[in-house]
Amino acid sequence: MQVASEPPEPNRTPTGTAPIGLTPAGLTLVATPIGNMADLSPRALASFRDADAVLCEDTRVTGSLLARHGVSVTMIPLHEHNEDDQIPRLLARLQAGERLALASDAGTPLVSDPGYRLVRAAIAEGLPVSAVPGPNAAVMALTLSGLPPHPFLFHGFLPPKAAARLAVLAGLRAAERAGLSATLIFYEAPHRLGEMLAGLAEGLGGARPAAVARELTKRFEEVRRGSLAELAAWYAENEARGEVVVVVGPAPEEATGEADLDAQLQAAVAAGLSLRDAAATVAEATGLPRKQVYQRALALKG
Ligand code: SAM
Repeated sequence: MQVASEPPEPNRTPTGTAPIGLTPAGLTLVATPIGNMADLSPRALASFRDADAVLCEDTRVTGSLLARHGVSVTMIPLHEHNEDDQIPRLLARLQAGERLALASDAGTPLVSDPGYRLVRAAIAEGLPVSAVPGPNAAVMALTLSGLPPHPFLFHGFLPPKAAARLAVLAGLRAAERAGLSATLIFYEAPHRLGEMLAGLAEGLGGARPAAVARELTKRFEEVRRGSLAELAAWYAENEARGEVVVVVGPAPEEATGEADLDAQLQAAVAAGLSLRDAAATVAEATGLPRKQVYQRALALKG
């Protein structure tokens, strides 16, 4: 009996399912440990073993991981500076049916790590892209922070210079004022943690609850929780060691001020809504009682 295979959908690339030992042809994004070597999954190891080549950020780092498990495979450096140049060659290898595994120095590839441009190019060519999931510092920090796990916004690294950092934080704050309510996740280098936390306190407000997750999965793993102001004060005095993730709780709901309410009502009326509809729309957006908003609308009209 012949089974007709489904025609490929235009915006889908096959990923296949991959039991251990049967790594499919194509590009496989392989997560590796973020500190604790026991976190390398059997399927990650199989992907490396089965690969025609392993693309990696730093061949010394991935080479020592592979050597630890007795895997001998060709490694190809793929980093920020050569990714664009490598893409045509790598696509040709994928088109020839090879299995390429992509690993970063630690954790999940592409997350503040190289690989996005290659993945985008492979998808555009309709080539198979799959992943072996595993450790990720951002998600682990989020789950240990005690802060609302979703929605969350992963930002990665903020700019190191104070002015650029404040500009990015001003953008986030503006999004929050416009309604974004999400737990925020940042990566940071330990030597910048003190000044980065001071910047967060300045840009987002010192009262915001936060957590600093350090050395995750390692011997000196620690999660310190407090307000941004408290954490900034602590790390101004105490040098952080090791790797860190900073998690910041969502912006507190701000009471809609009178000026803000008036502005929203005026905008709704200017958009052509009747006074009653404008009040209903603004009441829904602000969560204020409809009657109160309508009375304010009448007063404004008067
Ligand atoms: N791809 C990685 C992942 O999935 O988490 C992240 C790579 S990024 C270049 C490195 C940053 O991740 C570090 O500067 C730190 O902010 C965070 N990080 C990585 N490992 C960590 C760990 N064990 N504990 C805390 N933070 C970690």
